[in-house]
Amino acid sequence: MPFSASLQALDALPTVAGEGLNEKDYSGTNLEALPPRSPHADAALQPWQKRVRRVGQTNMTEHDPAVMDVDAWADYWHSAKVDVVFVSVTGILAFYPSKVPFHRHGKFLNNRDFFGECTAAAKKRGMRVVARMSPDLNWEDALQAHPEWAMRNRDGSAQHSGEEPRLFKTCMFSSYMDDYVPAIMREINSLYDVDCFYTNGWPPLGSLPDCHCAVCRTLPASGTPAYWRVFTDRVVELWSRYDAIAKEKKRDSFFFANSGGNVRGGPNLDRLGKVAQWFQADNQGRTYNDAAIWGCSLQGRVCNAVLDGKFAANVTAAYSTGTPGWRNASKNPDEARMWMNETLASGMVPYFHFVGAENGFDEDRRWQPVGRDYFGWTAKHDAHLATVRSIANIGVVFGQATQLLYPGPSTVRTRAYMHETTNGLYDALLRGRFAFDFVHEDRLEPERLSKYRALLLPNVAMLSDKQCAQIREYAKAGGSLMAGFETSLYDEDLKPRADFGLADVFGVSKAGDVVGTNGNPYYARIEKPEANAAHPILNGFRDTDWLPGAENRMPLQPTGDPVLTVVPGFVRYPPELAYPPHSHTDEPAVVLREAGKSRTAWFAGDVERTYWLTGHGDLLRLLHNTVRWLTDDTRLVQVDGPGFIELFCWETAPGYAVHLLNYSNPDAQHGWLQSTYPLGAQHVTMKLPAATTVKSVELLRAERTVPFRTEERVLRFTIPGVEDYEIAAVTLA
Ligand SMILES: [Zn+2]
Repeated sequence: MPFSASLQALDALPTVAGEGLNEKDYSGTNLEALPPRSPHADAALQPWQKRVRRVGQTNMTEHDPAVMDVDAWADYWHSAKVDVVFVSVTGILAFYPSKVPFHRHGKFLNNRDFFGECTAAAKKRGMRVVARMSPDLNWEDALQAHPEWAMRNRDGSAQHSGEEPRLFKTCMFSSYMDDYVPAIMREINSLYDVDCFYTNGWPPLGSLPDCHCAVCRTLPASGTPAYWRVFTDRVVELWSRYDAIAKEKKRDSFFFANSGGNVRGGPNLDRLGKVAQWFQADNQGRTYNDAAIWGCSLQGRVCNAVLDGKFAANVTAAYSTGTPGWRNASKNPDEARMWMNETLASGMVPYFHFVGAENGFDEDRRWQPVGRDYFGWTAKHDAHLATVRSIANIGVVFGQATQLLYPGPSTVRTRAYMHETTNGLYDALLRGRFAFDFVHEDRLEPERLSKYRALLLPNVAMLSDKQCAQIREYAKAGGSLMAGFETSLYDEDLKPRADFGLADVFGVSKAGDVVGTNGNPYYARIEKPEANAAHPILNGFRDTDWLPGAENRMPLQPTGDPVLTVVPGFVRYPPELAYPPHSHTDEPAVVLREAGKSRTAWFAGDVERTYWLTGHGDLLRLLHNTVRWLTDDTRLVQVDGPGFIELFCWETAPGYAVHLLNYSNPDAQHGWLQSTYPLGAQHVTMKLPAATTVKSVELLRAERTVPFRTEERVLRFTIPGVEDYEIAAVTLA
């Protein structure tokens, strides 16, 4: 293999962009060999959905039976090489001549079998069909006959759709779900050859239902941990029952439902992951309130944490997401493509979605080539895009219970609190180009954690005694930990503990109540700068005796020899008073410990969230330094070069795939991408397992091979540039 000119650049030690660290800061990076290859899985033994690589949906409207050109619809999705399409059965409006009571025929149906025609057109073209239902709403006549089906307000009145008041909201604990939904499923199975069943609109995502019907009045109060458990029980019970009904006709049929909701989810994702055969990430695009560009990748990491390799698809809205949003108009193509890039990079299957087929199939046609071209490209590279397992040595415990149920600390009661915390750590890990996985708090068994050098717990406030014990065992076995603020201060029922559940693991003890900020937040004083100058978490800090602390902190009892101590916050305005009345205390701002291979770092403050709110480079550096120290700066894959990227690395059947998502864009955290700002060369280094030989390195977006070299099992190659996305596919001999 001849060396290209660009490979010479590897001899110079490149820097990672993002925080302006000088080269010395990186010289300590240790490359750890990739784990031995997974045993080969026989694709023929996999369930059919594991072979699905592309999913398409035109979300059918009541008007579509009057206007949609069924052949044009089927031809489009076939031309986009989709393996499966969603066709609407619904439950709000029947798209076939249903005889199920209260399954109202759409007013343009005219007794036509629209569902049957679409299903036949899809099957004729070799596409599978998902029968799509919507059990969340129904009409006034059903409410009159079955008042028990409705979600009720506290005053007993029925809850209605906010946009269409003629529709009432159905209660998932009522007989509507026990009787009505199974009746439709059985009717469909008796009439058509569908491959599986799906419910849209249920279960709810991101928040829990609040119903006061006769059944729900007997349940724990909504929004509590106890309610969350009965909510999950009900979801799993119905899911299993619907799955059995799906299988009454075909053994390889199954049921799945609306999922997603990112780290918050809906039902407990550990339990859902055990029953779900298809995780449908209804996570369709960015909004003003959730503007971070990685919204889809983050969902992929959640799926990987709970699915054990089972199938996940993430829906990309080809239409305009956000508020206001136009569900029947195309969105920016660069934005739609980036969402699909993130879907692939994070190990999910892309799913393209548009609403309605006005004017035949043609009212707004701009989304169609976007999906067809993108899917046509993926179809050439399916072997490299299907993932076997992630290559990562850092685990981030996302704490679903905390995300869903914890109201924030007493000083900042907001539902956004954990969202901001997660985004802060996520941003920091991306800018440090760390390879990490998400970990669910109910999946902390040693066999799952052993792949990680460090576990990070970004204010995982709610942890049970059992979970604390598992984390303790992980540290005893040599694992490193980063946590802080209110982590483990509450049990799984959100009951506060007298002291942190992980107090002994980190050598910390609570010394008071949360202190917020009124003016200047607290500062972190660098203790004994000369002696500590060499401490790795202080690398790169020069010409200062203090650093920014965080917005909120949980005071800690003094410990032996803290590297950083708290200078309590003080007035910011007027500047005459902007000086610390107490410029030195013995209250630790960070507590660091080492025992054998295990290292632990506890921050008194909410550093991750404060970084997200401020973007302060000192906090970013502190987080990076800490993660490097915890992991001994050990990397499984190293990617050096300019730009803000998200990195994923996967073991694949042919070898490995290194995915780089280019987020260097003024629209990365607000609005949608308008265009792409290409990046320069990225240098990739990884150490291969023993007895492996590289045959080729191919860039799937650039559609070319690049030179590589291997020396003592260390593989090096250069990706000359990255447009919006690049995948370096390593094929082994
Ligand atoms: Zn209810």
